[in-house]
Amino acid sequence: MQRQYTVRMNSNDITGAWRRMIALVDMDAFFASVEQLDNPRLQGRPVGVVNGEQGSTIIAASYEARPFGIRTGTRWAEARQRCPDCVRIVARPARYAEVSTRIMAALHDVSPDIEVFSIDEAFLDLTSCQRYYRYRPEHVGTLIQQTVYEASGLACSVGISGDKTTAKWAARQQKPRGMTIVPPEEAEATLAPLALTELCGIGPGIAEFFAEYGVFTCGDMKKIPISVPARRFGNLGRRLWLMAQARDPAAVDTRQHEQKSMSHGKILPPQTRNPAILHTYYLHLAEKMAIRLRRNDQVIRDFHIGLRAPEGWRQAWMQSEQPTNDGLAIFQLCKRFLRQHWFGEVVQQVHIHGNTPAPAGAQPDFFAGTSDDNSGSNQVMDNINEQFGAFTLHRGLMNAQAQNAPIISPAWARNGTASGFLSITPGVMTGGTRKSKITSTK
Ligand SMILES: [Mg+2]
Repeated sequence: MQRQYTVRMNSNDITGAWRRMIALVDMDAFFASVEQLDNPRLQGRPVGVVNGEQGSTIIAASYEARPFGIRTGTRWAEARQRCPDCVRIVARPARYAEVSTRIMAALHDVSPDIEVFSIDEAFLDLTSCQRYYRYRPEHVGTLIQQTVYEASGLACSVGISGDKTTAKWAARQQKPRGMTIVPPEEAEATLAPLALTELCGIGPGIAEFFAEYGVFTCGDMKKIPISVPARRFGNLGRRLWLMAQARDPAAVDTRQHEQKSMSHGKILPPQTRNPAILHTYYLHLAEKMAIRLRRNDQVIRDFHIGLRAPEGWRQAWMQSEQPTNDGLAIFQLCKRFLRQHWFGEVVQQVHIHGNTPAPAGAQPDFFAGTSDDNSGSNQVMDNINEQFGAFTLHRGLMNAQAQNAPIISPAWARNGTASGFLSITPGVMTGGTRKSKITSTK
């Protein structure tokens, strides 16, 4: 893997350029590392960050905790059993947002073409800076790691390749402090033996679809025509087909506020099998997604809804009649999903993913029924919540879960600012400026 760019090291030959060069920067155990940075007592020790004073689930584990099998999603009670020395720390989202903002701002100096992908990940399009970095990706990789360290005192891992999907996969290969470079000409062969689910964005649901066509690994994708996934998933299907062949056409999206998809998920209390509680959680997720859509003046039609049972994830694509940004309409899809895919067993996690938001109002809803038009009440709710904090006003059904602290959304606002982070995350947050009513409602 070394030779391609080593040969070009002393050459200014333009032929050394890759057609596209994309890096994915991923902070190492971000939340836990911030805690260790701020509190020297925690350095070198196993740390589990939990969400809220009552938090029972670890949302970030330091590298010292990982040999004990402690990772994101591990119950705190279980973590303490496996590693009695593990330190429990309550998350400070405002602090993480502040550090993240500083890191993202510093990365602009490496390349102005940056897409803040989540609170601790960013894509950099390096295509037009290659000459500046003398066509040596490892040069840029080192510079990225130095830049992040100087801005925050924290370590990150970097993946560099010719497309986003391969870069994202590469960044995970040598953590922490890793740098993995996959030259574009080697990318297809590198991905070929991997299970499809190794790629970002391909969950068990999508993998199940491809399995029906005998496609299990990325290399298998060549065996089917692009029309097969296109018929099922539309443009997303076409992209999946190309992604598996290391030809992900997606551009680094430098627009700050628009989103290609959005996700909300929650970990449930242990042994949850009560349909009323499940409904409450789904309604909360549906409302969160709807509020984000309305804030961006967007609508979505395709929702990927999932739940995790003890034997694994169960997911399905659900389509609303009209593209929507109404929480109740999304919640109806969740209920339909439950009727079709849930048979009363224990549920550990729930999840909603919305695909390809479109501008609201692009297509007038001439055929939409008027009976389920909640746009008036939604607007009132948004106005009040805008002023007094997320979920000040909310649907009555939600009170049932009022005691539960929220899980930090994996799909974090892309503008990289602390206020964006806080405003989409309801509930009491340590260090935050807003306390929403949902946590104090009986
Ligand atoms: Mg990370």
